[in-house]
Amino acid sequence: LAKSSGKNRVVVYAEGMEQAAQTKAELITDLESAIADGQLAVHYQPTVDLSDGVTTGYEALLRWEHPTRGPVPPMDFIPLAEESGAIVEIGRWVLAEATGQAARWSWEAGRPIDIAVNLSPRQLLDDDVVSTVRAVLADSGLPAGQVTLEVTEGVLIHDVEAVVDVLRALRRLGVRIAIDDFGTGYSSLSYLRRLPADVVKIDRSFVQDLGSGGRSTTLVASIIELARSLELGVVAEGVETEEQHAVLGRLSCSHAQGYLFGRPRPAAVQGPTALAGVPSPRPGTVLAARP
Ligand code: C2E
Ligand code: MG
Ligand code: MG
Ligand code: MG
Repeated sequence: LAKSSGKNRVVVYAEGMEQAAQTKAELITDLESAIADGQLAVHYQPTVDLSDGVTTGYEALLRWEHPTRGPVPPMDFIPLAEESGAIVEIGRWVLAEATGQAARWSWEAGRPIDIAVNLSPRQLLDDDVVSTVRAVLADSGLPAGQVTLEVTEGVLIHDVEAVVDVLRALRRLGVRIAIDDFGTGYSSLSYLRRLPADVVKIDRSFVQDLGSGGRSTTLVASIIELARSLELGVVAEGVETEEQHAVLGRLSCSHAQGYLFGRPRPAAVQGPTALAGVPSPRPGTVLAARP
């Protein structure tokens, strides 16, 4: 492309590349201090039981408030943290935050509140991952059965045997394994055969098309049926409309997540004991202390 666009374009293109590489290098350096500087936060998005609408748990989603760039989306910095290796320490921090929060919520609500945490390939293949998860769980006091670790089908481009061994070891601790973004992988069915998993999360791209008359409804129905026959749990991701919700109900999908039920929010304004009906504050709003 650059070659055929003339000399000036090549220069612009080259500058763009250089700029991007510089930004990337800066972000990687900045990430090193992000935890210590308190720039990272965990937000929580509810997962609901579709049979009764009750929130059964939350997914922990990492947020980075960069001191000069402002919020940097996970899609932009997780791959960098993965590349630099910082994800191992950051991931341990997320796990500790999230399990501690779920333990407090469970205690406050008087019922088990589940927590799901995303694990990237580098975290999964870290030598200490099993002992880290064991230690963090012990510190939090949260029963392992309330924890789901989410991995994407992408982990299988790495050493399959090693990944399968680690997932088995994690399951022996009592945590559940979910396949995230299910259906988007190159060969989802063979992943399902090879990965020791307990839950599939149907990717948002399928859910978004529900009810539009295309093939997505049939595909989602098939995934739900497949999960049922393999005795796996199923969560539909990215539910935004009542129509999608209704279709999922007709298909007897057990659980769902999405903006319709709640956006990812900080723990202070989220959670089973947060006051119902009180709107979440807009960014920048200072919460007044209650008398
Ligand atoms: P994911 O695990 O598949 O998380 C779901 C993403 O969809 C989240 O984006 C969430 O905010 C968004 N989402 C939820 N409901 C809806 C909806 O109804 N509509 C739309 N349009 N989007 C919805 P987010 O928070 O930007 O995270 C993106 C990805 O970054 C995550 O995808 C996950 O792969 C990764 N990620 C986030 N936090 C962590 C973390 O702590 N560790 C690791 N390794 N990866 C993380
Ligand atoms: Mg996830
Ligand atoms: Mg997902
Ligand atoms: Mg995703």
